[in-house]
Amino acid sequence: MKTGNAILSSYGTTVFEVMSGLAREHGSINLGQGFPDGNGPDDVRRKAAEALESSPNQYPSMMGIPELRQAVAAHNKRFYGLDVDWQREVMVTSGATEALAACLLGLIEPGDEVVLIEPLYDSYLPIVRRGGGIPKLVRIAPPDWRLPREALAAAFSPKTKLLVLNSPMNPSAKVFDRDELQFIADLLERHDAFAVCDEVYEHLVYDGRRHIPLMTLPGMRRRCARIGSAGKTFSLTGWKVGYVTAAPEVLQPIAKAHQFLTFTTPPNLQHAVAYGLGKADDYFTGLARDMQASRDRLRGGLERVGFKTLDCAGTYFITADIRPVGFNGNDVDFCHHITVEAGVTAVPVSAFYEAADVTQFVRFAFCKRDAILDEAIARLERHFKRSGRTAAR
Ligand code: PMP
Repeated sequence: MKTGNAILSSYGTTVFEVMSGLAREHGSINLGQGFPDGNGPDDVRRKAAEALESSPNQYPSMMGIPELRQAVAAHNKRFYGLDVDWQREVMVTSGATEALAACLLGLIEPGDEVVLIEPLYDSYLPIVRRGGGIPKLVRIAPPDWRLPREALAAAFSPKTKLLVLNSPMNPSAKVFDRDELQFIADLLERHDAFAVCDEVYEHLVYDGRRHIPLMTLPGMRRRCARIGSAGKTFSLTGWKVGYVTAAPEVLQPIAKAHQFLTFTTPPNLQHAVAYGLGKADDYFTGLARDMQASRDRLRGGLERVGFKTLDCAGTYFITADIRPVGFNGNDVDFCHHITVEAGVTAVPVSAFYEAADVTQFVRFAFCKRDAILDEAIARLERHFKRSGRTAAR
């Protein structure tokens, strides 16, 4: 019998789905998959409910409803000083996941090289490959996740079509600074390449840092496709509303991919996200402040249990080194072990590497209520105290 597409069939079920399934099976606290346990802002949800009743529910415009495209353009201006033509430079997608697929399928020609930085979000590689792209992987390494500039420069060639840049970055929680972005911008100029910028965590940046879109650097306006996600910005990950901002010539081929992937996105959710993006600044600063407090709570707890945690400058995630708690197996075994034995779930960082050879780090999500984080820590403390820190297996 004939078989399905070899590239996609070669991938297993995503680690998030696997670990969430295991967490459900064992009634464990799921700090694996990154979703907040609240229900998003009441007023944004109310707008969606109202729009469902009072606005049309038929196919909206393929590029997104005008109100949301205008709101995305205004958001770009308000936070980053970017002048964006909402009619020609903004497209609404069904989540950042679709935006990524549309950007990659729309820009990559078979045989093009695509530079990616590991550890990376799991949807990038399959889509690059399915689009006929040839991945060129560069690694940032724990514990400090410094950009290896020579290796990055060496990954570029005349065949490079684009770089995928995720900042703030999942799972490393690294936020690229201006100096690193300038280095990247110079490479893109030198090699006449695009950047697909996954910036879904743009409003989740901590300790007084600021997110800098690569698109704001000189010369980058016409090279970047900048992706945002209402799921992250409004803590409504199930909504799957994303948006792409790019110069008209860059957006056009991306829109071609979008029209054959999903074509449109539910109109009531678009109305609500348009409203949300217009919320006052204190909403956005409050989101980062609250999430930073959750990060500190989980980080303090993990350190008390005995983990060594790595710096976390943004996102929902903190990475912990599992060696200090005396576990003597790899990160996959560890995540399985704590789910079953301690009732807490994390995801292995090796899942974010193609070669899966970085095996002593796990990722915990802190986008949860205090009581949940406290209970997770209490469970881990009880478990590792009981197992005497040395014989946790
Ligand atoms: N990119 C990154 C880096 C992510 O972490 C996520 C969500 N986990 C996405 C994209 C997907 O976003 P969305 O839910 O809007 O599709």
